[in-house]
Amino acid sequence: MPLTNAQARDLAAVVHPYTPLHKLREVGPLVMGHGKGIYVYDTQGKEYIEGMAGLWCTGLGFGNEELVDAATEQMRKLPYYHLFGGKGMEPAVELAEKLKEIAPCPVDKVLYCSSGSEANDTQIKLAWYYNNARGKPEKKKIISRVKAYHGVTVMSASLTGLPNNHRDFDLPVASVRHTDCPQYYRFATEGESEAEFVARLAANLRSMIETEGPETIAAMIAEPVMGAGGVIIPPEGYFAAIQPILEEHDIMLIDDEVICGFGRTGNWFGATTLGMKPHTVSVAKQMTSAYAPLGALLLPAFITDMLEQQSAKIGTFGHGFTYGGHPLGCAIAVKTLEIYQRMDIVGHVRRIAPLFEKRIKALADHPLVGNVRSVGLVGGAELVADKATKRSFEPAKTVGAIVARYGEAHGVIVRAIGDTIAFCPPMIITEPEIDEMFDRVEKALADGEAHVAREDLR
Ligand code: PMP
Repeated sequence: MPLTNAQARDLAAVVHPYTPLHKLREVGPLVMGHGKGIYVYDTQGKEYIEGMAGLWCTGLGFGNEELVDAATEQMRKLPYYHLFGGKGMEPAVELAEKLKEIAPCPVDKVLYCSSGSEANDTQIKLAWYYNNARGKPEKKKIISRVKAYHGVTVMSASLTGLPNNHRDFDLPVASVRHTDCPQYYRFATEGESEAEFVARLAANLRSMIETEGPETIAAMIAEPVMGAGGVIIPPEGYFAAIQPILEEHDIMLIDDEVICGFGRTGNWFGATTLGMKPHTVSVAKQMTSAYAPLGALLLPAFITDMLEQQSAKIGTFGHGFTYGGHPLGCAIAVKTLEIYQRMDIVGHVRRIAPLFEKRIKALADHPLVGNVRSVGLVGGAELVADKATKRSFEPAKTVGAIVARYGEAHGVIVRAIGDTIAFCPPMIITEPEIDEMFDRVEKALADGEAHVAREDLR
């Protein structure tokens, strides 16, 4: 197909993140024009169900006029201000008050940034600062997990546990360790029960801590449900098993709620759904329904008190982003949370999750699908070459990406994470829309299976 004008201009001027750049010239970029509800439309006017809420973030979907009005009002009133040097502005205060109310653990104050990566990066700086302040300068290593996703800055990419984010970027940095991924389907040994799997992961974590020396480890970071690593839902009892080990060794638990936060798993926060008891929390994405960039750290009193004390001792708190707590983002977030509350987004997700789960589970009957998983309104279907042995396709065959592209042809946007097809629709999705989304996905899978057979990709 010849490129459209929009595609040609895009190709000539834009670098696309997370894209097989060598292939983009052949397939051409998919340039979006506008959106409404759960639908987006490309510049040719073709309709797609946005089955990934953009990048797991447009909780309220597209074209929400209340958010547009809140943004416009704030832009007219005070389009920019900051929080440096003791300055303040109303939207940042109002949002912080709301976040304190709904947080999944005791929160004293909120520290703003503009993205999930910045939030996690800052969490690590604060963990280091804290341990210096309390006279433990050796206690600096951070434990993350294989297949974790925590962002792409130098530190947050180091925390991310995916080879593609490290290879040739000279990452991870030296102070990061990755412990096991809690994916039973892939990493349980033959005949191992879920409880045994959890116990083994906990024992491995303990032995990592003891080998490294607990006096050298500051924190562990974890997503309640691992998102960009392939929608990995830890088995029952996982956090309950690892938390006492962290407590015992005075290791802080950082909860990365960048995807799970604000209703996605059927509670305000994924920590509640998964039985996680964090000390501190990172949020972004659905906080503004992605209508403007904003991230935040929900901090406990032992951190905020320390910051104040250190300010007296060593000088001004030397951290902050120009756009951290941008009034546009904060005003939109305040309105987003108000709408989530008014429409009872948590109740809505819970009511609708059983149908979402039923439709995902039905995908397991398809010859390409080896494993399915979901919680709330986030899920994944893992494609395999052989269902009986769980053998994966060779990564170079890019079967996941092939199925996702057939999805686009059938009018649904899903994400291929390797060969896992991820689903994370806007949380406003209705039951008929869920059915329509999976009907389109099933057509894509049928085309994918025909393609695999035709090209002999198994
Ligand atoms: N943490 C998690 C769990 C994420 O899913 C992401 C983004 N997908 C990030 C952090 C990084 O956020 P950002 O892209 O806003 O930097």
